[in-house]
Amino acid sequence: MIERDRIKELTRREQERFADSHPLSHELHERAGASLLSGVPMNWMTRWPGNFPVFFERAEGAELADVDGNVYADLCLGDTGAMTGHSPAPTATAVKERLARGMTAMLPTEDAAVVGEEMQRRFGLRNWQFTLSATDANRFVIRIAREITGRSKIIVHNHCYHGTVDETVADLAEGRVAPREGSFGPPVDPAETTRVVEINDLEALERELAHGDVACVLVEPALTNIGIVAAEAGYHEGMRELTRDAGALLVIDETHTLCCGPGGYTVAHGLDPDVLTIGKAIGGGIPVGAYGFTDEVGERILAKTSPLVADVGGIGGTLAGNALSLAAVRATLADVLTDKAFEHMIALGKRFEAGVAETIAEHALDWSVTRLGCRVEYMFRSPPPRTGGEAAAALDHDLDALLHLWMLNRSVLMTPFHMMALMSPATTAEHVDRHTDALREVASKLTA
Ligand code: PMP
Repeated sequence: MIERDRIKELTRREQERFADSHPLSHELHERAGASLLSGVPMNWMTRWPGNFPVFFERAEGAELADVDGNVYADLCLGDTGAMTGHSPAPTATAVKERLARGMTAMLPTEDAAVVGEEMQRRFGLRNWQFTLSATDANRFVIRIAREITGRSKIIVHNHCYHGTVDETVADLAEGRVAPREGSFGPPVDPAETTRVVEINDLEALERELAHGDVACVLVEPALTNIGIVAAEAGYHEGMRELTRDAGALLVIDETHTLCCGPGGYTVAHGLDPDVLTIGKAIGGGIPVGAYGFTDEVGERILAKTSPLVADVGGIGGTLAGNALSLAAVRATLADVLTDKAFEHMIALGKRFEAGVAETIAEHALDWSVTRLGCRVEYMFRSPPPRTGGEAAAALDHDLDALLHLWMLNRSVLMTPFHMMALMSPATTAEHVDRHTDALREVASKLTA
């Protein structure tokens, strides 16, 4: 049992240590507060555990240096945007070349053709389109699904995250669809647009599909944004069968689960989606998103598309598919997120998992650790959660804040929202072991 007072006391000490070692970040935060809401360029950057965020100066490979000269093993990696490692050399070189030759022209480049072929080879889907973010990819796919099925609703998993997509900011509250806690200005009650089911609940999925009004089921193949919640044996096969029978498109969001291998979870586990969405890491840090779909879906889209008005139909964006993004994706897929890189990353994921599992056992903690390829998560419950609801119930904001702060003060950067670590091609065993050592230390303090 961990005493709450001990968490509080340790957190207080760590806040002091953090403030002492980050004076320039503090100063910059104060200054930025005069022009930026809460002193940050985007509000979620306040979600870091210190009393102010770390301002970073440079990041290279798997390390990040802040303005005070503290250098971290970065296991957050921009919450997957930098899963390639920061500024990977092949991407940086390709982007620099493209910078000098025109970045956006509302015209395709050779890179677009090469990237299309590579996405097709990797993920097995015939047709590809590009956006500026994974959020946009999901938004456009929902519109497409509605248009080609003539149905209005979507199904998502409880406690999913698919970006800032209105229809997906919904959870189950006592069995009913409700705006997610913190949901800001929902355009309509999400129950009007969305049905929500728990991952691993095929009965609920079948029941919700039976309404006959579902255009698509949009899911991560395992939840990664409320802690990792794995799909149980048979869940994906069941989901495929039920969606097909119901005439709803199955959309797999691989934005995070690309951590499972070069073709994401879809290829690693032989899934057969109608549509696949992705973003973040494929650009090596340059904004980009993509969606791929089958021949059949492609034909249905074309049957509904009028070239005369294709640009005003709610799908697009002037800079979507721009030359700079595609140059970045081409280099990243060819030379950074390679099969060999994934072998290295997944081996480190296993090392991280083993370190956490040993610590949990040594200190008899009631925690669990789950790994998805090169992404690992530990949660304050055992056994691991089976559903998003169980995962949400296991959140412990105080303990979470302490652990993040503890890690920051020991030169380890973890994804702020939960205890998740990601390995990049540039991550080393030393980075992983640094985390394990720090976890052992705090675990002994918490359980002494
Ligand atoms: N899909 C998933 C599974 C995600 O985790 C995220 C972001 N965390 C997104 C989509 C949205 O990505 P972005 O914010 O880059 O648009």
